[in-house]
Amino acid sequence: MSTNVKSSPLMPTYNRFPLSIVKGKGSKVWDQQGVEYLDYTSGIATCNLGHVPNVVKEKLEDQLQSLWHCSNLYHIPVQEQLATLLVENSVFDQVFFCNSGAEANEAAIKLARRYAQKVKETDAYEIVTFTQSFHGRTLASLSATGQEKLQAGFYPLLPGFRYLPYNNLPALEELVAEQTCAVLLELVQGEGGVVPADPEWIAEIVQLCEKHGLLLMVDEIQTGMGRTGTLFAYEQYGIKPDVVSLAKGLGSGFPIGAILANEKAAKGFEPGTHGSTFGGNPLAAAAGLATVEHMVTSNVIQQAKEIGQYLAEELQVVQETFKHVETIRGRGLLQGMVMKDQAIKVVDKMREHQILILTAGPNVVRILPPFTTTKEEVDHFIQVLKLVLGELDS
Ligand SMILES: *Cc1c(COP(=O)(O)O)cnc(C)c1O
Repeated sequence: MSTNVKSSPLMPTYNRFPLSIVKGKGSKVWDQQGVEYLDYTSGIATCNLGHVPNVVKEKLEDQLQSLWHCSNLYHIPVQEQLATLLVENSVFDQVFFCNSGAEANEAAIKLARRYAQKVKETDAYEIVTFTQSFHGRTLASLSATGQEKLQAGFYPLLPGFRYLPYNNLPALEELVAEQTCAVLLELVQGEGGVVPADPEWIAEIVQLCEKHGLLLMVDEIQTGMGRTGTLFAYEQYGIKPDVVSLAKGLGSGFPIGAILANEKAAKGFEPGTHGSTFGGNPLAAAAGLATVEHMVTSNVIQQAKEIGQYLAEELQVVQETFKHVETIRGRGLLQGMVMKDQAIKVVDKMREHQILILTAGPNVVRILPPFTTTKEEVDHFIQVLKLVLGELDS
């Protein structure tokens, strides 16, 4: 159902659910009438620490008292602290900050091209991405996105992208062409249907990138910041990408994006080659710093991993019980329930029972609880899910 009536002052870019959310705390949100909902969307994998987490709120409030904005023409200590923390907890050496996921991928695309053209002194420019991927809505990140339905009407796209089928080992024979400079991929496709990458397929890509000197760039905008049970999903594949892009969970809901690169790839940028007015500004950096500090010093990611395992086990039981459910797949607290018919029916019915979840494509239900969700909340979610699926099966 759409609330985008003609009189709306907003452009109709979203088919909005008939719900106006005005408040959030932890796993809960409240609508304008004060009705409470269990939020298992986390603002699409963004409010990983729950809504309005105290650790982040306090740091933001402090920052609000001292400095809101300052140009990147000056040193911004809080931004440098956040970069240091990200570098110390990853396989990367340097960070570039921006404001969103699409902008992070935009930076990665520019870095890959400039690295090929100015550091390696080749004329390579092509970046290989994969079908059903999602990399954002700006023209470059949309061109990287392997989904025609999102690209339709926006032609001509930016040249220099080639799409191969995801998780398809034989197709990797075509990975390397003369103009290829990089590969960009998600380790669990989020929007594309919660599809984890096959480790053998990833190992082959890593090998080909090494052999042919291609940059391996991983879009961790949805999978990063603990969502899959480790700070970054690449840790679970035992790989060392050259670049990752981050956004969503990085600021606990405050807009911030970033790319992290190793020393080699980071050479692609020099002073004056890329920039952003707001990127890593003091408020955004404070939110990011509080978020990452909490994630690396507390057991919250371990908690996400354990509760994710519990959720996955419970969903498995659901799958075995209801004929409408085909499979369960995902990692950590990024779980997908593949349906034999439309996923939106489940999402709508769950909302009637005050539980918010999402779809990921036409037939996948996507479940993204905050890391702080309790076993009791998972049990309640599963109980209502069984009720809803029972109604659909009958
Ligand atoms: C959400 C998302 C993006 C785009 O992020 P925005 O902040 O909406 O621009 C890119 N890649 C992946 C994998 C995402 O999940």
